[in-house]
Amino acid sequence: MKKTKIKIVKLGYQKNNIVFDKLKKYKSKIFEVEIFEQDLPKCDFEWGYSFDTLRDILTTNFDEKYFNICIGYLDATIENNLFGKKLKDNNVTVVSFYQIEKILSDNNIDIFNFVLSMIYRHLTRYIVVGESLSHSATRSCLFDMCGNKNDVIYCSSQPIICNICESKIKKVQTPDGYLAVLKKELKRIRKHNYYVIVEAIKKHPYLSLFIGIISGIIIGLITNFIFELLMNYFMR
Ligand SMILES: [Zn+2]
Repeated sequence: MKKTKIKIVKLGYQKNNIVFDKLKKYKSKIFEVEIFEQDLPKCDFEWGYSFDTLRDILTTNFDEKYFNICIGYLDATIENNLFGKKLKDNNVTVVSFYQIEKILSDNNIDIFNFVLSMIYRHLTRYIVVGESLSHSATRSCLFDMCGNKNDVIYCSSQPIICNICESKIKKVQTPDGYLAVLKKELKRIRKHNYYVIVEAIKKHPYLSLFIGIISGIIIGLITNFIFELLMNYFMR
């Protein structure tokens, strides 16, 4: 399958440079990225940037013969305080980390998950021509609209393709195996195991205590058994 070429643009100062270093090393069977930096002008409204300004910035120097998609990421607020906005056709999009970063860190979600989730979302919208894949219902689906920014925690911690979106994707012609690879790669977007365990303990404290006690007893028995074996061996 031919990989979709994505131009990633870091717009202005980035607090989370490390995510772009991770993205450079990320391997996907359906897309590849090249990362660029672009300065931002003064804010349009003192608080952020209008869609028109961002469209101008991202479409200038966007070589559509070389790249299929362009996604710009910025730390500042964008018009209507959205976290993402399609700026031109299906291939130029801007994504803002404003407020998202705090929502994710409050929920122990790596911001890199959000970056990836936005890439798979816009990539699939580009691939699936003729079907609208957004829905206002929150289903932990890659295409949840997330009108409430807090809902990004679902598509950034365990995104799926809901049944309705899957049937829409199957209706149109996509590269061979695209859906299967997409679903497989989405399974990589998960919370870090450490936080999964911490949250499970918080959710089921008594069960965790019980498991802790039983594990302690089992470890004690095994240690005793090994000790006796060693003693028998050396005391012979
Ligand atoms: Zn869906």
